[in-house]
Amino acid sequence: MWYELKNPASAIRELDLTRLPADALAFYRPFHFSPHEQWGIYILVEPLVQHCDVLYHSFGGKLAAFNWETLMGCLLFEVFHHEFFHHLTECAATSFEIASAGFGKPKAIYSNYWEYRFDKTDGVGPHPDHPLEEALANAYAYNSFSFLSRMEIGFKLIWVKVYQKILEKCWAQEPAGYRSAGKYINAEYVSGAAQLLAMLLSSPDPDPASLMLLAKTVMPSGNSAFLQKPDVPTYLVGGTDALTKFGQLIPAPNETYTSLFWLGDTSSVDEYLKDRKKKEALAKKLG
Ligand SMILES: [Zn+2]
Repeated sequence: MWYELKNPASAIRELDLTRLPADALAFYRPFHFSPHEQWGIYILVEPLVQHCDVLYHSFGGKLAAFNWETLMGCLLFEVFHHEFFHHLTECAATSFEIASAGFGKPKAIYSNYWEYRFDKTDGVGPHPDHPLEEALANAYAYNSFSFLSRMEIGFKLIWVKVYQKILEKCWAQEPAGYRSAGKYINAEYVSGAAQLLAMLLSSPDPDPASLMLLAKTVMPSGNSAFLQKPDVPTYLVGGTDALTKFGQLIPAPNETYTSLFWLGDTSSVDEYLKDRKKKEALAKKLG
């Protein structure tokens, strides 16, 4: 475990990992489209459970960081945050729509954007990472793990570090857009989000500095969402068997997909890792 924490990239380098893009396991239904009351995040439990199996078996017992439950927790957290980003995009578009109505010239920002998001590439022109929203959704999910890892050293930190390396390795096999996520992780996210805002506004003459400022401080971000993560309607969809199996593994799904909560007791591993870190720091000091 210590090795995986210190060298997450080399811990997974030799593994033959296969995975599906997040949207094969879940989807976001925008509130702009009728029936409006059915908007929200839909998580497809059968493919999710199957996919977790495939991913877990591709480790072949080679990773200490994960058992089936903890891997499932990370997968669920990732998929939810990918879809939550689609919600953030819709909220950003809606804020512009409300502002445009305030100016007395209401614009259908989201519908216009939606039309060229996948099909046409007019507006500001074709984006090299088209569809950019998918690259950013993957990057947002990745970055959400980083926010969690600003915690003290412990078992969860290993999941975060190893799982992020798994994502980086797997993106290459995903469809166009999705596979460009690596360009927008960490600090690069802001420039990607600014480009997304330019696409939403579809202005022929956008001011990059203003858009960068908006992307950095206002939206799309969790703070500018109309509903916070635990309140976004989220549906677990699947047959009784799949839902039962899923429920046994993930007893508190809302807490798991919003904050990677896990019921298991990690205290002995956490203590060991803290101790190991202390010893290493001491050894360094003694030279
Ligand atoms: Zn997506």
